[in-house]
Amino acid sequence: MQKGKIGVTTENIFPVIKKFLYSDHDIFLREMVSNAIDATQKLKTLSSCGEFKGELGDLRVEIKLDKEAGTLTISDKGIGMTADDVDKYINQIAFSGAEEFLEKYKDSANSIIGHFGLGFYSAFMVSKKVEIRTLSWKDGAKAISWVCDGSPEFEINEIEKTERGTDIVLYIDDECKEFLEKEKIEQLLKKYCKFLPVPIVFGKRQEWKDGKMADTDDDNVINDVKPAWTAQPTELKDEDYIKFYHELYPGEDDPLFWIHLNVDYPFTLTGILYFPKFKNNLDLQQNKIQLYCNQVFVTDSVEGVVPEFMMIMRGVIDSPDIPLNVSRSYLQSDANVKKISSYITKKVASQLENIFKNRRNEFEEKWDDVKIFIEYGMLTDDKFCDSAMKFALMSNTEGKRFTLDEYKQLIEATQTDKEGNLVYLYTTDKTAQFSHVKAATDKGYDVLVIDDQLTSPFIGLLERKLEKAHFVRVDSDIVDNLIVKEERKAVEMTESERNTMTTLFKSQIPTIEKSDFLVTFESLAETTTPVQITQNEYQRRMKDMAKVQPGMAFFGEYPDSYNLILNANHPVLKRIIADAHAALDKTLAPIDTELSAVNERIKTLRDKKDATDDDKAQLKNEESQAEQLRDKQNRAIADYAATVPQIGQLIDIALLGNNLLRGEQLDNFLKRSIDLLK
Ligand code: ADP
Repeated sequence: MQKGKIGVTTENIFPVIKKFLYSDHDIFLREMVSNAIDATQKLKTLSSCGEFKGELGDLRVEIKLDKEAGTLTISDKGIGMTADDVDKYINQIAFSGAEEFLEKYKDSANSIIGHFGLGFYSAFMVSKKVEIRTLSWKDGAKAISWVCDGSPEFEINEIEKTERGTDIVLYIDDECKEFLEKEKIEQLLKKYCKFLPVPIVFGKRQEWKDGKMADTDDDNVINDVKPAWTAQPTELKDEDYIKFYHELYPGEDDPLFWIHLNVDYPFTLTGILYFPKFKNNLDLQQNKIQLYCNQVFVTDSVEGVVPEFMMIMRGVIDSPDIPLNVSRSYLQSDANVKKISSYITKKVASQLENIFKNRRNEFEEKWDDVKIFIEYGMLTDDKFCDSAMKFALMSNTEGKRFTLDEYKQLIEATQTDKEGNLVYLYTTDKTAQFSHVKAATDKGYDVLVIDDQLTSPFIGLLERKLEKAHFVRVDSDIVDNLIVKEERKAVEMTESERNTMTTLFKSQIPTIEKSDFLVTFESLAETTTPVQITQNEYQRRMKDMAKVQPGMAFFGEYPDSYNLILNANHPVLKRIIADAHAALDKTLAPIDTELSAVNERIKTLRDKKDATDDDKAQLKNEESQAEQLRDKQNRAIADYAATVPQIGQLIDIALLGNNLLRGEQLDNFLKRSIDLLK
């Protein structure tokens, strides 16, 4: 028997390990199983280079629970340890056997896990006592046990053990009884060990028999020893990729596309990334990508390792070059990790481009599902954006899809304005904006459908990236003004006539909550509709942006501002205007004369250089007089307008065409429509 002290400088290492080394106690099992796999892989390496000449046998790793004894045992048939090995690798805590081994067998040993530092000692996070029972592969080696109860003292004894390999027996702490539960251990094995390269057996497979679950004769093998990402891309068919996806995410729809990552210089990285099919946009869950290190699960929080916009992808990344057990902020500043992240971005972009080039039909079919990802990527990652400009698609109202270049060619001849800007017309809702879309297509323009939640920022991005490009929603102006090709002549009206006409219509616009209307006149073709409603592109976009950008929230509080545009050349409007003149001129003329006189006096008083207090008082007086006269005028016009149902009817028709007529107002409109038929 040998007694001794573990070679660490501080007596208090165990409490430290227990509390602080890993905040997550669960990972002890990952460490134990990783060591068992390492020992097994090492033996395979020794065998393949001829140093170990014996039989390898069945190299499984076994996990056993003994609830009564309160133990959890991890057994392997790997290289085992001599007393010297134990002294060197276990007693000298900071000494990593894996590192030494790797140094010696650099070329053939690349599948050794050993990346987790103080791995073995994590056993003490959950154990009051740990026993190692081991027999080394070396000829004439004696089986030994090493026992330690969590104090720095340990004991080594010779024991009876005929099978090569190591059993690690954990005497589970009273505070950690959960690790004696079968379900808990199975869950941890499934989480961390699902894709380890050596079979891991935990009891027997169970089956439903006679109304309960019962053990079968088959071993319960936890893992898939050769997961898809470890194969060469050429060895795999589409079915294999899809099957693996379902292994990772049971119950999900088939993925849309996948990308097999496979690099070994300047860093080692393998993996498969999938574009999931999202059922709806709320489904954009992050943290579904799993990070592995030589097939050992590490985490599913890949922040920093993949660019933010790729966090909604799914799949597996496996790299021994990502530092583990370090803080997130460290990870993000690590040079290797940065290289990995930009490699992944490039690879994803080039794979998407390949799919676009070689399987365009399929790419177009799936576009609606991937566009949110691609658009988001373009908005947040400049490099990705530059690549994606080649394969990002736009769809028009006929459902045809174009690349940005193709679309530019399509509209160049018809949609360039007098300043040489290319005007991209779009609709966010083909049905709601139907009349505007139709007016535009009737004029020979093409209209895009841009209707996801990234619309405003994405349009902004395209306007910055494409040269001389303007995006204009079809309902943001009358069709003749959407693409201004030449100066258009304004409607000829006197100031007072314009006032009268404006009031005539404005007074009949129903009150709609949070909406403002501006009445304007245009001289359009006689056949164009008499009244239209448009919404200013800039203001609308600001409000849309406010919804997604917190700093702009105040824009969201503004009312929606619409233009009510009257076609002064339309026969119906001409008649209404003529009738209004006939009916109102007599009433308005004397008020107008009076108002002119008052205005004249106001002007003189305002122009006066050394105005006395009397002057100021008089000015105030005249101003309120003018105000009263205008009110009187407006009231007269409004009273008249109320007697002409055609005015309200025209306005309501325009509102109806823009989905703005609802509730009581809609009811009024219906009643008036019937009255007009009488
Ligand atoms: P690491 O795995 O990072 O080297 P550990 O503390 O987990 O650190 O293990 C220390 C060393 O103990 C290992 O490198 C290995 O040499 C030895 N060891 C641990 N577990 C086993 C095992 N099951 N079989 C053989 N050797 C082992």
